[in-house]
Amino acid sequence: MKTTTNKTAFIPKMYCSLFGHNFKVTKQVTYHVKEYTCSHCKKQLTTNSNGNLIELTPKFKEINAILERIHHSRMERIQRKAITSSVY
Ligand SMILES: [Zn+2]
Repeated sequence: MKTTTNKTAFIPKMYCSLFGHNFKVTKQVTYHVKEYTCSHCKKQLTTNSNGNLIELTPKFKEINAILERIHHSRMERIQRKAITSSVY
């Protein structure tokens, strides 16, 4: 008699469907937009412009990359302005 305890069938995706995803912030794009990855099944989510969580598709990855660039250049400008205003 063979007992087939098929542990390999217990894939992370199944774990997530039973216990829910375990999302961790993997990237802070802007103050409001973050990217999340599930530590079990590697599913990726992001925050959209309405503040809702949506699946991180390649298109949203592109949008986030642009947002990140804008956000960083804006931050740099603010920091530079802060330095110059403290000098004068
Ligand atoms: Zn998951």
